[in-house]
Amino acid sequence: MFEYVGALHMHSTFSDGSGTVKEIAGFADEVGLDYIILTDHNTLRALNEGYEGWHGKTLLLVGCEINDRNNLNHYLAFGINETISTRLPAKEYVKIVKDSGGIGFLAHPHEKRSSMKEHPPYPWKEWDTNDFNGIEIWNHMSEWMEGLTEQNKYNYFMHPLRSIEGPPKETLIKWDELNLKRKVVGIGGIDAHAHKVNLLGFFEVEVFPYKVLFKSVRTHVLTDSKIVKGKNGKNLDASKKMIYDSLKNGRCFVSNYYHGDAKGFRFFAEKDKKIYNMGDTINISGKIHLRVILPNISGSINLIRNGEKIDSINNIDADFIIDKNGAYRVEVYLEEKAWIFSNHIRIGI
Ligand SMILES: [Zn+2]
Ligand SMILES: [Zn+2]
Repeated sequence: MFEYVGALHMHSTFSDGSGTVKEIAGFADEVGLDYIILTDHNTLRALNEGYEGWHGKTLLLVGCEINDRNNLNHYLAFGINETISTRLPAKEYVKIVKDSGGIGFLAHPHEKRSSMKEHPPYPWKEWDTNDFNGIEIWNHMSEWMEGLTEQNKYNYFMHPLRSIEGPPKETLIKWDELNLKRKVVGIGGIDAHAHKVNLLGFFEVEVFPYKVLFKSVRTHVLTDSKIVKGKNGKNLDASKKMIYDSLKNGRCFVSNYYHGDAKGFRFFAEKDKKIYNMGDTINISGKIHLRVILPNISGSINLIRNGEKIDSINNIDADFIIDKNGAYRVEVYLEEKAWIFSNHIRIGI
């Protein structure tokens, strides 16, 4: 399998970000990301103006972040060609994205931040729908703002990467719960805006420069074939489809690059010499091996079944033997720091 590492959920000057699309793509290329997905609020201007494609070695894809009339229920929609009215209830735009062949993820569903009046929380409220593909289980910006206090603010502004710990517990619980009924994919977002904030009354700091955030929460996708940058963007449609298919199918995992490069991580099930991947729903029984491979470094590998930690091993790899049905996933910690979150392998459910 081939692995591509990217960052998603970011805003440019086409909505409320401070960087142009070109600048953002340039930063991603410098940092070495394989792909990024731009999600300006309620606009596909970057798509319509032809920015989708390779910028250096980075493939830039354009989605958008949709909200309802109360600015709640933020929805990351990928692979759509037309914007959707913000006057619709969330349930309806979730369905429109699906019906038009796109995929969608609930953004920062349990956002609670309250540290800045101008940035209130925008949680997800409309749970009465099954038309979304997944959830943004980790959002750098939300977590950072949630932890921000009057006392720690200088530290937080100076060290945005050090200031986040892991996905919200509430979101992980909900994610596991949803996976008992159907596949719901987890992705990680940075929600980069590079807002300029006046910190001391006289000097302006850029909160989360794009380039800094490109070194935090990443979403790694696995594909069966190689993504090749064609001449004059020739392979754009095929490459775009491969990345979106992996996200849709859950053949992906989330990592925090700040703690280490997670490229090479694998989680798969093995039974009678057959391999099953993250995102697969399988109907097999008996003893099944759930195998984990870490990229050249030991970590605490936790096996989660139906939301509960059932085993843990500190090693460079793991081979868990299970014989119960359930939605299984893996979390990896490096010295207590949340590093990798796999997607589920759903067995017999
Ligand atoms: Zn949002
Ligand atoms: Zn956003």
